[in-house]
Amino acid sequence: MKALVYRGPRDIRVEDVPDPRIQESTDVLVRITSTNICGSDLHMYEGRTDVEKGKVLGHENLGEVIEVGEAVRLVQVGDRVCVPFNVSCGCCKNCERGYTGACLTMNPPNAGAAYGYAGMGPYDGGQAEYLRVPYGDFNCLVLPEDAADKESDYVMLADIFPTGYEAAERACVVPGDTVVVYGAGPVGLMAAYSSYLRGAARVMVVDRIPARLALVEKIGAIPIDDSKTSPVDRVLELTEGEGADKGCECVGYQAHDVEGHEHPNMTMNNLVESVRPTGAIGVVGVFTPEDPKSPDRLEKQGQIAFEMGRFFEKGLTMGSGQANVKRWNRKLMQLIRHGKARPSLIVSHELPLAEGPDAYKQFDARVSGWTKVILKPHVTTSRRREMAAEEPLPNKREERESVYAS
Ligand code: NAD
Ligand code: ZN
Repeated sequence: MKALVYRGPRDIRVEDVPDPRIQESTDVLVRITSTNICGSDLHMYEGRTDVEKGKVLGHENLGEVIEVGEAVRLVQVGDRVCVPFNVSCGCCKNCERGYTGACLTMNPPNAGAAYGYAGMGPYDGGQAEYLRVPYGDFNCLVLPEDAADKESDYVMLADIFPTGYEAAERACVVPGDTVVVYGAGPVGLMAAYSSYLRGAARVMVVDRIPARLALVEKIGAIPIDDSKTSPVDRVLELTEGEGADKGCECVGYQAHDVEGHEHPNMTMNNLVESVRPTGAIGVVGVFTPEDPKSPDRLEKQGQIAFEMGRFFEKGLTMGSGQANVKRWNRKLMQLIRHGKARPSLIVSHELPLAEGPDAYKQFDARVSGWTKVILKPHVTTSRRREMAAEEPLPNKREERESVYAS
């Protein structure tokens, strides 16, 4: 089959690789129809991980089941399924409590496994024509009857929608909160969107890329352009000097200033200053235990200079880690199915697999207008979506107000 294969920093190629096959009786084989490029893939693309050459990338996968192992009971051939980026067993000490992002058995001795990802186990990714899904009954989310019509919404259930939701969860967002999100990439946008779903009164999102800030506005949140103003000062100004109730980190260890110089502690310390005393911070942007290629001395060993004194003084709480996609994907699917959420609003491109290498290049350069790419391994035509116009969003501010008014 054709697949996108990592060959070295900024070198991703379409290659012929062996078709995956059923290896365990609990496996499911999926013919991939949508597979996204993620900001997490860019850490590998830029050579900032130890991912091995030859790895098939892709952890945001959706497709049709074409074969099931003999022990598979629930998932059937022909089902359309969305596959969480976490590979999890469903029965270890962590999975049974819902922490599938920290499964103990799929990548020992580490907690947590994923498809096509550095340090996350031997699993090939789904930026390919076919994917093997271990423990298929547990890991496949069977989609409802409108799966084909809303495919670009449902594929966001593999990662960024639940991950954004998890950021809001770890920040303990409750109705009436004011929330600040750092990063308006796909994850930050979904954190803002999810904060509204959880009842936030106001959400502010910090970034500097115009097309992404336009999407912030589109979902009814307040964009803060940190190339024009200090984001901390702006948050304090908008909150009468108090700070936001809650904060989400959706950038990670490659956070940088507007000139492009990396400061891995930048968003974390900005969050400490932007969130009010006794508030909470949810960190889903990735931080790594070591980062030898970082220009920052501490970050090489996976450390950052963190404002611990201010964090303690303000009595802040923090939660972090890989998202537990299984914990949220079924409920979030219901919001899509019943027209209450439309995460595809951030999709800018739908492209055939052959255009994958170029799409990586554009997305990595954060070229304005490249907000989220879906690859279509069995399609040969490309589609650039118009993001600005089209139908209103279910949770846009004016709409919410009109719902309450009626
Ligand atoms: P992305 O790279 O597309 O977006 C990151 C955004 O952050 C960019 O728009 C960039 O302009 C902005 N940014 C950079 N420095 C900034 C700063 N100092 N202040 C404010 N904004 C800044 O990536 P994404 O797909 O949105 O993913 C975001 C992070 O989430 C990545 O680290 C990714 O690896 C991580 N992630 C984590 C999980 C998880 O399970 N925890 C899942 C998916 C992605
Ligand atoms: Zn992802």
